[in-house]
Amino acid sequence: MLISMWKPGDIKGLPQVKIIQGWRPKTGDALCKECFYFAFETEIHNTIVEGGLFKSGQVVAIAASGGKDSTVLAYILKLLNKRHNYGLSLVLLSVDEGITGYRDDSLETVKQNKEDYEMPLKILSYQELYGWTMDAIVEQIGRKNNCTFCGVFRRQALDRGAALLKVDCVATGHNADDLAETVLMNVLRGDIARLQRCTAIITDAGEGSIPRCKPLKYTYEKEIVMYAYYKQLHYFSTECVFAPNAYRGHARAFLKDLEKIRPTAIIDIIHSGESLSIREDVRLPQLSNCSRCGFVSSQQLCKACVLLDGLNRGLPRLGIGKSSKINRSLAEDEERQKIKMNSAIDF
Ligand code: SF4
Repeated sequence: MLISMWKPGDIKGLPQVKIIQGWRPKTGDALCKECFYFAFETEIHNTIVEGGLFKSGQVVAIAASGGKDSTVLAYILKLLNKRHNYGLSLVLLSVDEGITGYRDDSLETVKQNKEDYEMPLKILSYQELYGWTMDAIVEQIGRKNNCTFCGVFRRQALDRGAALLKVDCVATGHNADDLAETVLMNVLRGDIARLQRCTAIITDAGEGSIPRCKPLKYTYEKEIVMYAYYKQLHYFSTECVFAPNAYRGHARAFLKDLEKIRPTAIIDIIHSGESLSIREDVRLPQLSNCSRCGFVSSQQLCKACVLLDGLNRGLPRLGIGKSSKINRSLAEDEERQKIKMNSAIDF
């Protein structure tokens, strides 16, 4: 491995007399500001090394939203890349969902990050990729299922952006709290296929796809906020105007309650997720490529194409629900259209 582990004692210039300034939310240790920075940065470096996230010479896109997680991720990857000679080229990749009063403002922060961290920035918009903004989608669908559209389109937009930039990997700002919430949600929904994959530090959708990794996988949200605050990083903290009262919100509230009683609950849930072994007879989705757009999909048509089809036909709810049924009916529809066209040509 090209990147070596870094242990306490290696650091030069740490103050010999520690001035205790507070308690680390993750461990309860009493630390001064400098020691907190050291512990925080070292843990992320060790996560990167142990997970084998990067190789020297790679181009890495940082999925940047302007929020605290991606801002801290950009700052820390630049810092660690220099400190430990990772040999990475870092770029920022952003998605503009077209949400007035939210994304337009947060993208200004990303543009500031571009200047602050001297990284190239690529922004892709839903409007240019799909012909729809989230503002227009919410007008059609209302505020109940809007995040389904937004999440599916964002996932694909990031893949498309990564392919355009020809990067080797996309680093996302998912933190320990996000992961623990996802484990809880998948347990509560009984979604075994997702439960198996959701704690992976590197996710790879299959041949030809660009892997994603989570360097902040074991980093607590509270510590990310503390670090950004003390380092005076410039980030955007307003919530999306379409943020719903989603299922994730309940998992988050539950997790926060658990964290108050026992701060290690977050990391314990992640470790439980990592240690689960799934029975062999549990069926997992078989990945192939969408017959329309070519992106990775477990169905004949990917979810983004199904949702887009519904929007374009004026039937926005078409893609909400059991995807196998919807896929079947769309594929049959497409087949009918093809037969119609062929018979028109023959005639
Ligand atoms: Fe998109 Fe929903 Fe997140 Fe807003 S809250 S950015 S609509 S996924």
